[in-house]
Amino acid sequence: MASNGAEATENEKTIEQCYENLIVIDIGANLTNKKYSRDLDSVIQRAKDSGVQKIMVTGTSVRTSKEALRLTRIYPGTLYSTAGIHPHDAKSYTDESWEELKSLAGNPECVAIGECGLDYNRNFSEPEEQRTVFHKQIQLACELSKPLFIHEREAHEDLLAILRQYSSRLPSVVIHCFTGTTEQALAYLDQGFYIGLTGYLCKDKSDTGVRKLLVDGTIPLDRLLVETDAPFMYPNTRASKLPPHVKDALTERSMTFLHRYCTFQRNEPCSLPAIVEMIAAFMNKKPEDVALATAFNALKLFNLSQ
Ligand SMILES: [Zn+2]
Repeated sequence: MASNGAEATENEKTIEQCYENLIVIDIGANLTNKKYSRDLDSVIQRAKDSGVQKIMVTGTSVRTSKEALRLTRIYPGTLYSTAGIHPHDAKSYTDESWEELKSLAGNPECVAIGECGLDYNRNFSEPEEQRTVFHKQIQLACELSKPLFIHEREAHEDLLAILRQYSSRLPSVVIHCFTGTTEQALAYLDQGFYIGLTGYLCKDKSDTGVRKLLVDGTIPLDRLLVETDAPFMYPNTRASKLPPHVKDALTERSMTFLHRYCTFQRNEPCSLPAIVEMIAAFMNKKPEDVALATAFNALKLFNLSQ
């Protein structure tokens, strides 16, 4: 009897493991970063093993947008790309490179325009230049009817004001790696925009930021997307300020991928299940429900067919 009981437990464990993987989609990973140049195959395989079914490779300049598109041809049905000029790179804009970006953006594997937007935090490009190049990309997204993948830091008001100018013909908009306040999130949601969350939520220490949004249920599940922003935004689950119930929600499986393969220096898409588990814990929802909703949103919004 005792041995039968033990067997049953073993079987149950095996069955449980089959369902353990969350099915998730990473809508933003910078896989063209040179940190992946030596082992991209393993990075993508690990992502799949962890449950990440599809990954959107972020383009941040003409060069990386071209490289991102090239990667989609090597991993069809798994990788998709975006084409855009990051606000930091706005100063590199030329009419000639713009023509090239436009032709990259027209490919079916390129599923969004961006990342583009405004970053007044570091001002690596002049705000005026940033706005000009942002306008061009919004117009392109409108022309191609492709979603906008947006980066915003300390430029909430300006960004919103610019996007409002296009409201009658604006395609879907994702505010990627959202790090703002509840008030700002509400303003974005009010415009019908989607919110992308990353491992930043481990860093967030504010009373009115990303964690509060999740706890209060401010972001409806049908407007939420998840991303790693790898190799950046490592989700530091050891952060002392994470509430105990959030730490407890992390599974051994997601922690194995996180701790074995991801570091502050190089985050990977296989950290996404851990991020989803934390988001779900803050929202007081089941991780499967957050995984399912965000994957569905990504498939629908970016039309990730095949
Ligand atoms: Zn960004």
